[in-house]
Amino acid sequence: MTNIDDKTPGPRAPGQARDVPLDAHLHTDLSPDSRVPMELYAAQAFERGIPEIALTDHLDFMPGAPAYEYANYPRRERLIRDLQERWAGKVKIRFGVELTWETRYESAIREHLRTHRYDYVLGTVHAMSDGPYARNRIASFVEGKTLAEIVAPYFAEVADAIRSRLFDTIGHLDMCKRWLVPWYSAADYAAIPEAYEPLLVALVESGSALEVNSSGLRHPTGETYPGPWVVDRFRELGGQRVTVGSDSHLPHCFAFGLEEACEIVAAAGFDRLTLERAVDRGDLVLPERFRRKV
Ligand SMILES: [Zn+2]
Ligand SMILES: [Zn+2]
Repeated sequence: MTNIDDKTPGPRAPGQARDVPLDAHLHTDLSPDSRVPMELYAAQAFERGIPEIALTDHLDFMPGAPAYEYANYPRRERLIRDLQERWAGKVKIRFGVELTWETRYESAIREHLRTHRYDYVLGTVHAMSDGPYARNRIASFVEGKTLAEIVAPYFAEVADAIRSRLFDTIGHLDMCKRWLVPWYSAADYAAIPEAYEPLLVALVESGSALEVNSSGLRHPTGETYPGPWVVDRFRELGGQRVTVGSDSHLPHCFAFGLEEACEIVAAAGFDRLTLERAVDRGDLVLPERFRRKV
């Protein structure tokens, strides 16, 4: 585990961050794949000097998917509003959701967001059990294809999520890297910038933020979703808003890798993070230690 105050020179392994403005991607025991009580994130945020967190439990729309109608909305809302009250003045807690985008369920997704209010809506694409990246299908899908062809179905869904303009943020833009580790390393993706370009252009136009998801730093992937060069390119294309999230599903993953994620954001030329869509927040400015690296 890294101590960011460590003065020892040399490469630093990622660890749980301190003193960053935000962790905008967290799963609690209201997600089917996490058992972390929400109180534990609030306590860690307070202890680590992280003033704001967004609880973004999963919501799936494919019947039978793990988070299909998993967390009951009124119960989730009540638990998070209670938590907000208990931590008022110490940690700002946001009632978020990580909504699995699938173009085939667009109308159901729109209807859900029209009729349910959240503080923060994160849109992401996952490997669905009936899709090409499912564990039992991916090897035959990859065979005989180029990397650009392999990522195409994932990126097509991400493009539709962006164009929907339903989301504050698009999360883990290229999570497909994780499932393709047996065949491709993170560096291989830098050789197909043309696959990313339309997504970044659409994201700039949409007003949604780009998430730098640090979970890749603790996966065999070994880099964030997306990697630093993609964040640089987003900025060059006129991207205005970025955020960072650990995508934690375990107590020790809270804020994990966010020091590195903030460095990536700062190196791309951003001086602050964002949360709500199209809202300028003066209080999410990166601490001085990041800004010096720009
Ligand atoms: Zn996700
Ligand atoms: Zn997540």
